[in-house]
Amino acid sequence: MYNQKKLSINMKIGILGGGQLGRMFIQEALKYDDEFYVLDPNPECSCANISHFTRGDFNDYDTVLEFGRDKDVVTIEIEHVNADALEELENQGVRVVPNSKIIKIIQQKILQKQFYEENRIPSPEFEIMDGSEDEIKIQIPFVQKLNTGGYDGKGVQLLRSNDDWRNLWTQESVLENLVDIDKELSVIVAKNENGEIKTFPVTEMVADPKLNLLDFNICPADISDETQKQIDVIANQFIRSADSAGLFAIELFLDKNGKVWVNETAPRLHNSGHQSQEGNSNSQFEQFYRVVTNSPLADTEVFGFSGMLNLVGEENHSGKVKYQGLQEVLKLPKTYVHLYGKKETKPGRKMGHINVLADSREELMEKLIHIKSLMRVIA
Ligand code: ADP
Repeated sequence: MYNQKKLSINMKIGILGGGQLGRMFIQEALKYDDEFYVLDPNPECSCANISHFTRGDFNDYDTVLEFGRDKDVVTIEIEHVNADALEELENQGVRVVPNSKIIKIIQQKILQKQFYEENRIPSPEFEIMDGSEDEIKIQIPFVQKLNTGGYDGKGVQLLRSNDDWRNLWTQESVLENLVDIDKELSVIVAKNENGEIKTFPVTEMVADPKLNLLDFNICPADISDETQKQIDVIANQFIRSADSAGLFAIELFLDKNGKVWVNETAPRLHNSGHQSQEGNSNSQFEQFYRVVTNSPLADTEVFGFSGMLNLVGEENHSGKVKYQGLQEVLKLPKTYVHLYGKKETKPGRKMGHINVLADSREELMEKLIHIKSLMRVIA
């Protein structure tokens, strides 16, 4: 049976984090009759003006406990939150989606890698480094990932040659075999408390090597049936092992030998699912609403080809944001602009994105490249 609580409309939904993911979730879910409460330290965050907003630190135990107490469900739009407080809320009978246990695993790269190993989910071989360089067995080249505190490519570095040993960070970290990457892919999988599971079509991510932030998404990915099969097995194995309702974005590498590896998983909405806003019969934000409210999951079918271009703050520009070229972009057909309500731009800051629909992959790439040449995020 579906949770009776859902049948009484007007759930109080609490979200830790007030960034763009929360904003687009609320934007989608406002077509239903619920109330959205957001906790974020920044009073100018993307959700501040579209929710019942509480200014406060989602890493602080007491603040999270106080915020969550009177909510019907508490969820996250960022994983770096106080998970002990979420566990206490669970003990007090508040629904927490995803649960505190899987959030704790994902928060720490070491626990996350061990989780993949224990559950036979293929992820690059690794070694744990807890301080001393002497004990390291892994051979150069390898990738070092800090156990905690990494985000958007920060806290990750490649050690390529013997000279790079001096750059090795001393903090606790995972040292991971370098994958010879053919493609970076992502699959979003959702599960509600009733145990219903649905995945989105696989997305391909094309990264900007300079900023280390992803640049284009293309959906559906151009992959073989065999690759799709490996991904289906991984998504299924992940969601069963995670033992939690939630929406998860599994970031994948397809290597040059055709094998798929899990890079990492986000226990939340994800940049790689943004094109689902117009590209799929239901978006990741709609699906997340279904998960949070334990409603029947939505269908995720793609309409043709869809893509997304991140609008990222340009190098050497800090201050009040201007979107150069926006008027030109708004003239284009099957092109959809999403801005995140951030007043100030900084180099590399994600300020918005543009979704595009097309009838073929070639047309899609052409449109994305054209839009990229038109738009600049400057101060
Ligand atoms: P973040 O969580 O900060 O986004 P990731 O773990 O996703 O960091 O790593 C950022 C990028 O570094 C990846 O998108 C990929 O291009 C590269 N990378 C990470 N791990 C590996 C690996 N084992 N082999 C090759 N490249 C990697």
